[in-house]
Amino acid sequence: MQIEDIFAPDLIYSTMASFRFKALEDVLDRKPLVVETPSGKISDYFSEHVFDMDKMREHLSDEAMKSVSSAMEHGTRIPRNIADQVASSMKDWAITLGATHYTHWFQPLTGSTAEKHDSFFTPLEGKPMEKFAGANLAQQEPDASSFPHGGIRNTFEARGYTAWDPSSPAFIIGKTLCIPTIFISYTGEALDNKMPLLKALHAVEGAAVRVCKYFDKNVKKVHTTLGWEQEYFLIDSALYNARPDIQLTGRALFGHNPAKGQQLDDHYFGSIPERIHAFMRDFETESHRLGIPVTTRHNEVAPNQFEAAPIFEETNLSNDHNLLIMDVMEKVARKHNFRVLLHEKPFAGLNGSGKHNNWSLATDTGVNLLSPGKNPKSNLQFLTFFVNTIKAIHDYADVLRAHIASAGNDHRLGANEAPPAIMSVFIGSQLSKALDDLEKSVKAGKMTPADKTQIKLNIGKIPELLFDNTDRNRTSPFAFTGNKFEFRAVGSAANCGAPMAALNTIVADQLINFANDVDAEIEKGTKKDEAIIKELQKLIKASKKIRFEGNGYGQEWVEEAAKRGLSNLKDTPSALMALKEKKVKELYERHGVLTERELEARIEIELEKYRMQIQIESRLCGDLALNHIIPTAIRYQSILVNNVKGLQEVLSKAEAAKMGKVQIDMITDISGHINAVKTMVDDMINERKKANKIEDAFESAEAYCNKVKPLMDQIRYHADKLELLVDDELWPLPKLRELLFTR
Ligand code: ADP
Ligand code: MG
Repeated sequence: MQIEDIFAPDLIYSTMASFRFKALEDVLDRKPLVVETPSGKISDYFSEHVFDMDKMREHLSDEAMKSVSSAMEHGTRIPRNIADQVASSMKDWAITLGATHYTHWFQPLTGSTAEKHDSFFTPLEGKPMEKFAGANLAQQEPDASSFPHGGIRNTFEARGYTAWDPSSPAFIIGKTLCIPTIFISYTGEALDNKMPLLKALHAVEGAAVRVCKYFDKNVKKVHTTLGWEQEYFLIDSALYNARPDIQLTGRALFGHNPAKGQQLDDHYFGSIPERIHAFMRDFETESHRLGIPVTTRHNEVAPNQFEAAPIFEETNLSNDHNLLIMDVMEKVARKHNFRVLLHEKPFAGLNGSGKHNNWSLATDTGVNLLSPGKNPKSNLQFLTFFVNTIKAIHDYADVLRAHIASAGNDHRLGANEAPPAIMSVFIGSQLSKALDDLEKSVKAGKMTPADKTQIKLNIGKIPELLFDNTDRNRTSPFAFTGNKFEFRAVGSAANCGAPMAALNTIVADQLINFANDVDAEIEKGTKKDEAIIKELQKLIKASKKIRFEGNGYGQEWVEEAAKRGLSNLKDTPSALMALKEKKVKELYERHGVLTERELEARIEIELEKYRMQIQIESRLCGDLALNHIIPTAIRYQSILVNNVKGLQEVLSKAEAAKMGKVQIDMITDISGHINAVKTMVDDMINERKKANKIEDAFESAEAYCNKVKPLMDQIRYHADKLELLVDDELWPLPKLRELLFTR
């Protein structure tokens, strides 16, 4: 008897797996799209879709211009009649570019952005016309009841509203004028990522100006800068559509590692494949029209992993641009038959994706406060901001850690290729030595003139030291890179607003403490420079344990960090719980960044987000295991069984036993894995039920983390073994090899 007699061949091969093969065929037919840029010169169309300063100057009266500039720079209120003028000009400009609608563009705590479109078109007393009033620009009431609020909005006060943020310019996407806004509850509490960020920036700017005055009385304003580096994966959309796990969770819950992964390091900075190159040019063009200064593109370490980075900008604007670009990337990718994966770890066994946040402070006099200067005085200013930042991280490492926590980033932090979950600061050997020298150079009591000369000499040398300082440490979560700090532990899908609000708040706090102490010392009669140096020495001493120059990936660091008393919060639930500390509540309240209620709400929302994410993954894992993987394995197993039976029919008993041995071993192997998968899916469903019954948000999240998640890993182990055993032609899910190497 033949196999075909038992199962019609088209029945065997044309059912489940056909979707996969159809997808693979589709990919083979793809050609790179032809991308036309509006002009050969980017400067010809850069920012053409943004109502930026130039366009404002062109469209607004002098009075309106003044009012908007002042709102942008000092946060002053824009009077209603001026708002009307601005709205009307904005609308006229937008209509010339084909816009028909407007929306308030905001950043709810879901992590992405949201918009609700309204038409400019209004039938006014029977006369149809296009209208956009100041009131519509200033405020909108989106139906906000379904956005996360962590208990802030009860049903009776379910309304939330969005309010214009004039410090980030309006822009056009498609046919819609988008107005960056904050999103707050009816009772004035923040329901978004932007409002706390703006408040944190305000806090740090004030504190930094106060400290700058020690060095330069002309400094009137300081702003912080953010330059993000966005990593992402691209996969073909046909293959994406054949992977329900990637579609719904952003990552592959199954899939054996391809024989070739990133071992050869041949992808990193290699030449960019044509189809991908076309996609990049296209999304960069769109980004440039939106005023996003993207300049860098390159391959990353893993196959099909890439990075885009802009020139840094003021933090609030830069963050808006990051959110915008993630959106633009997704839209443009579809046009090119790609899907963008922004998940922190789409593929186990390959590098994950991060979003390094390069951060610094700059004055209105054009000085980067984290760049060593040309003389001892400006270097002392550099050291002041440098050392205070380190001390801030030392005191509030857990706060930073909490604000980068997510189910996705858990796969990355502490895994063997990403910054560890232990927060530490890397500054390089030269600066380490400079700080050590400074710490030792002054004894108790008054400084002698010789001391002072020596210190000045040492401080004066810093720029030369840094000039040929090529120290780089890719394993540090927070590294100084010559003229800025790079916060490397931020996840690729994150809204930088949360970690940036945290960082800027803790630095604000530290700078204020510093200035208070220096002022007190000066009050006592100590000279200014000496007071500053003495204070810096204290800070260097007190923050030593956060500095680490070694390999952050090693087990030795885990042990060493524990000895130093640094926390190692390995997963999201425990990282979030650190925000419950009294010290954290006080910090945020002190600077008016978050009230206790807002902070509590955020913890609640993040715990719930985590729980939901693992729950969705676990459900999909179970479904795919039961509906895709086990049936396929059983089907192949039946073929083997029938083969053994067939051998028995055509051969002698002894011969059949001998010839069928391999098949019988395979049948046994497959049975073992099928059993394991089925049993563990049942266990997982049970654990999920138990976790769902837990009322306390933290305990429930923890149950998902410690009971449900480990079972997913084990189910995957057995399913991936089955992938290796079962006939390739039967396997329904595109394999990782196909996802990563088919272009
Ligand atoms: P590297 O990673 O080798 O230091 P770059 O110096 O080009 O490379 O910087 C990487 C990123 O750091 C870029 O996105 C850039 O915009 C950003 N960056 C550079 N200077 C600053 C700064 N002063 N503040 C914030 N970000 C900055
Ligand atoms: Mg970098």
